[in-house]
Amino acid sequence: MIERPDAIVCDLDGVLYRGDVGIAGAGEALAALRGVGIEIVFVTNNSTKTPAEAAAKITRLTGFEAHEQDVVTSAQAAAHLLAADAPPTLLFGAAGARGPLEHESVPVVADWQDARAVVAGLDLSLTYESLTRAVMAVERGARFVATNTDVTYPTPEGLWPGAGALVAAVQAATGVAPEVAGKPHAPMRSLLEERLAGRRVAVIGDRVETDIALGAAEGWETILVLSGVTSSPDGADPKPDHVVASIAGVPELLGL
Ligand SMILES: [Mg+2]
Repeated sequence: MIERPDAIVCDLDGVLYRGDVGIAGAGEALAALRGVGIEIVFVTNNSTKTPAEAAAKITRLTGFEAHEQDVVTSAQAAAHLLAADAPPTLLFGAAGARGPLEHESVPVVADWQDARAVVAGLDLSLTYESLTRAVMAVERGARFVATNTDVTYPTPEGLWPGAGALVAAVQAATGVAPEVAGKPHAPMRSLLEERLAGRRVAVIGDRVETDIALGAAEGWETILVLSGVTSSPDGADPKPDHVVASIAGVPELLGL
């Protein structure tokens, strides 16, 4: 049992659902946490959805009522990173970045020749042409920002290629390494630090190198679930503070 946190940073893919299938007991667990006054912030490296779309998916698959303002995405972190310079920006995937970029007054351009930055994320309609546009822009000196570098994401079929696999293609072709916005990197950390300053926080996630690394870097309690990409905690680095089969086990861990 652990001391009750003020807030929980909760990952989505692999914690609340796999692909389009909800994790059993996720909605009830979230309701139990909110029921005792714990704030839940849903934090995802998935950049294909807007916060409103992500909140709707949580509600649809778990039955737990989530709202747009409860969700923080790596696309928002990428937009936050570019806000100061506001370079004309080409999207490679990362459809969920368009709204956040516009919100930060960063112009989104369609022609790679106009781009001074590329935001790359998961592209569910990837084509050779879209990859080529991103590569050409980066080759010509555009700032290369990845929403995240998760190489896979969990689906009921198994692990599908994630943003990191696509970002790696751009990196391979250009020799340029991206700045990364999502968990556990600085742009996402600063967004969450602003939001959760002074609070006692626990993080729930299925991926050690993003979710558990984020919590460890922030000094938060870390809870690894085995319902997503990680099937065993053996050799995890950083080592999570707690391991549960799924989020359904978290209320009991908190003594609820
Ligand atoms: Mg996950």
